[in-house]
This record gives sequence, C-alpha cells and structure tokens, in this order.
Amino acid sequence: MTRPRFNRILLKLSGEVLMGNSQFGIDPDTVARVAGEIAAAKQAGHELCVVVGGGNIFRGLAAAAKGFERTSADYMGMLATVMNALAVQNALEQIGVDTRVQSAIPMSTVCEPFIRRRAERHMEKGRIVIFAAGTGNPYFTTDSAAALRAAEMNCDALFKGTSVDGVYDADPKKIKTAKRYETVTFNRVLSDDLKVMDASAVALCRDNNIPIVVFNIREQGNLARVLAGEGTATIVQNEEG
Ligand code: UDP
Repeated sequence: MTRPRFNRILLKLSGEVLMGNSQFGIDPDTVARVAGEIAAAKQAGHELCVVVGGGNIFRGLAAAAKGFERTSADYMGMLATVMNALAVQNALEQIGVDTRVQSAIPMSTVCEPFIRRRAERHMEKGRIVIFAAGTGNPYFTTDSAAALRAAEMNCDALFKGTSVDGVYDADPKKIKTAKRYETVTFNRVLSDDLKVMDASAVALCRDNNIPIVVFNIREQGNLARVLAGEGTATIVQNEEG
C-alpha cells in the first residue's frame, strides 16, 4: 500500500520517549538521537513542528491521585513539558538546526509565547517550532495539545512517535497474536478504545481530517523512513483503508 506524502507534519514526542531506557527524567543521548531524526526529516524537505509531553517528569493525574490539588498538579505537568522542550531545542541547535520554543504559558525570559502567526512565520523560514506547556489549560493532555496545534498550523498529519510500530487490535506486549493495522478509522479507534491517543485528541483529529501516523521512534532513522512512505506504521484516518 502506498502512503500519501505529508509535507508539513506535527511530531508528538511523549515524555516517555525522551527518558530512553531510564525510569525518569531526560536522557541526553536519547534526546540527541531524536533531534537527529528531526534534522533528517527536515533535510528530506519536510516542514516540522513538535509538541513535547512531560510524563517523564510530572503527570498531573498521578499527582492528584496522591493528594495534590488537580489544577496545580496539571500546571506542574505543563511546566515539565517546558523543560523537555528546552532539552529538545538544545539538542537540535547543537546539530545546527534553527528552532524556536513557544509556550502556551507565557514565560518571556525563557521562550516565546504561543502566537500562531509567529509560529507560521518561523516555519516558513525553515525553523523547527517546539510547542511547550500543552494547551495551557489543566484537565488536558499534550496529546490534545498536539491535535490542536496540528489543526492550527495546518499540518497534513500528526506523527505520534512511540515505542511500538503502530496500532494493534490488542496489546502486542501481552498478546502474541495481536494484529497490527496498516490503516484504521478514527471511529474504530474510539469504539474499540484502541490505545493511540486520548479520545479528545482522536476526536479533534477526526473532525479536522488530520491523519494520525503511529510509528516507532526508538528505531534509528524511522521518522524519515515513514515520511518517505517506507517502514512500518499505522495511519489512523477517516476513510476505510
Ligand atoms: N497538561 C495539562 N494540560 C495540557 C497538557 C498537559 O494540564 O494541555 C499536564 C497534565 O498534568 C499532564 C502533564 O501536563 O499529565 C504532562 O503531559 P502528558 O501527560 O500529556 O505528557 P506525555 O504523556 O506525553 O509525556
């Protein structure tokens, strides 16, 4: 099956990806490798923007379960994503890629505030824009932020880099016979509760017709491969495959 070419993409990097094989925090070697993936995709002529998660440092929901007040915990989670964004920015700039970080929570001495038109201009100039602090609102996730920014930035697709090579009909780590989808519809993902992104993010992509491409970012060179229509991935879209 040939895949469509996606020129402008939003890459969602969860905190889990940035911690590599550690249990917590930021692994510099992994961040450097991911930066290399982004640079290679840019080199191949794609326009990229990035949304980073924060789960490797702080997750609001988990903290709330331990007694933190939910909204404060979520703000802490959003601040964690800013640290990750700065780590990704640093790694990209070390290999000569121009970047800007824009935060949904303004912090003018650290990075730019999120201004859509300005982000657009950066992308036109070939810069990688890294969106931090999620949506800026508690009770959301960075998956929803990724869907929102992908729509705002007119991206052709949302690329979700994970540690599995696509969407399966059951958990492939637990069930050996689990089958990977080449394509799957948004509605099936929602009705079968397939683990892709949270439901609000999937619905936002469905309503704005933005395909979600799920692929393994731990595999060296995979982002560029999947962008070139090769490699293994699942496309979540409105049409049946
Ligand atoms: N968060 C939030 N609003 C947002 C995005 C994130 O409150 O729009 C908080 C939330 O507490 C979340 C944390 O930031 O647990 C880290 O984001 P997420 O869990 O989405 O990171 P990931 O799973 O991608 O590493």
